[in-house]
Amino acid sequence: MKNKKVAIIGAGITGLTSAFYLKKAGIPFRIFEKSDRIGGVMQTKTDGTFLYETGPNSGVISHAEMADLFSDLKGKCTLEIADDASGKRLIWKGKSWHALPSGLFSAITTPLFSLSDKFRVLGEPFRKKGNNPLEDLASLVKRRLGNSFLDYAIDPFILGIYAGNPAYIVPKYALPKLYNLEQNYGSFIGGAIKKARIPKTEDDLKANRKIFSAKGGLKNLIAALAEEIGSEHIQLNTSIQIVDSAFTVRINDKNEHFSDVIYTGITPNISDLMPFIDTKHFEPLEKLHYAKVVEASIGFKNWQGIKLDAFGGLVPFKEDKNILGVLFMSSLFKNRAPESGALFTVFSGGIRKAYLAELPENELKTIIGNDFKEMMGLKTFTPDLFELNYYKHAIAQYGADSEARLAAIEHIEKEFKGLYLAGSMRDGVGIADRVKQGKNIAKQIAN
Ligand SMILES: Cc1cc2nc3c(=O)[nH]c(=O)nc-3n(C[C@H](O)[C@H](O)[C@H](O)COP(=O)(O)OP(=O)(O)OC[C@H]3O[C@@H](n4cnc5c(N)ncnc54)[C@H](O)[C@@H]3O)c2cc1C
Repeated sequence: MKNKKVAIIGAGITGLTSAFYLKKAGIPFRIFEKSDRIGGVMQTKTDGTFLYETGPNSGVISHAEMADLFSDLKGKCTLEIADDASGKRLIWKGKSWHALPSGLFSAITTPLFSLSDKFRVLGEPFRKKGNNPLEDLASLVKRRLGNSFLDYAIDPFILGIYAGNPAYIVPKYALPKLYNLEQNYGSFIGGAIKKARIPKTEDDLKANRKIFSAKGGLKNLIAALAEEIGSEHIQLNTSIQIVDSAFTVRINDKNEHFSDVIYTGITPNISDLMPFIDTKHFEPLEKLHYAKVVEASIGFKNWQGIKLDAFGGLVPFKEDKNILGVLFMSSLFKNRAPESGALFTVFSGGIRKAYLAELPENELKTIIGNDFKEMMGLKTFTPDLFELNYYKHAIAQYGADSEARLAAIEHIEKEFKGLYLAGSMRDGVGIADRVKQGKNIAKQIAN
């Protein structure tokens, strides 16, 4: 422990979480961030009227580590759990929104799924389990539930998390809990019932799956972490290179030695950062696909559209619209818009419509505005806030190539002990996944 000194590459939530827990363990570290600010894709902005997020808008408390982080930052930032409205999810079909069923009655009456598929669900527990670990999500859902469940439940769900295509996503890597339900219990429904009967551990109870932000926006989570870490340990505007397998790091033309290195960035060109490792080992990492996304923050001082009593709405690919979904941000979290107003986040692009995430602002404003008007019950699209943010590598897509990528990561980490390849190239794409990963790496280094 005495000789430890860790280089953390990237000051997003992964790097900051690792640093926070390394500091708690008394291990020296430095964070190197190539941009001029901390937070990575996570950023909260204000124009004086609206408080809006760019990058992630909220997270899910899907791991105990996420709940623990807020407890560990008590007094520095406050967890904000979304309004109860967040339980209601809307799906666009035809010319209107429909709530995703939340109980038996709504499941029977919903127009989202076909009558034959509703009957077919009754047979789900008796269907044979799959035996192809690389089966894609679309095939899995068609096999167990039917086409309309794929189109109007799973497809929009995958758009919401991955901006992805269910025919590419492989559940074993992208949705391991769902995959394991079928593998371990033979059925989604039967498995869910049996799992619900298993007594919950303390960690299970902490991971309550509630939607969260930080009071005042996610920037306050980042700011609290930075305050605890200490700004003297964070070096901005710094691109580095790891020169050799002894982790000599070249920083602004000077060499410095580290015992461990944590990389938290994206995978394209990762081999340039570590030229001492044979590029062939990085090939499966550099092939990882990312969804391109454009995110529109849209605010109205006086809202005159539909009632906003939900988390937001998702738009299935089959509906052939130009937006992936709308989040009703001012209904979820406090003080995001004036009392009579409303704040939304709209996503466009994604794996199947990447070209949209490359269009210029004026074109996108018209395209997004047309869908928004129709879906949100407006006669004209004249928002008081309209800001676009483009993400070329927004969300990693866990497809069948994950097997080779994870094997390559394991191989590199084994060969170069002390190197941790982290971020969304593995372990999930949500904020809570990043926090769990960052904390676990700090723990591994401390042990
Ligand atoms: C548009 C969008 C919407 C999202 N929505 C949600 C959501 O609603 N809920 C949710 O849970 N998750 C969401 N996510 C995912 C979530 O935001 C990310 O998983 C998480 O914030 C990633 O954190 P990170 O620290 O791993 O990576 P990043 O935030 O990307 O940070 C990595 C940092 O490393 C720096 N870096 C990279 N390479 C180098 C280098 N060579 N040298 C120095 N610095 C380097 C980068 O500049 C960056 O600051 C969304 C992501 C995007 C893009």
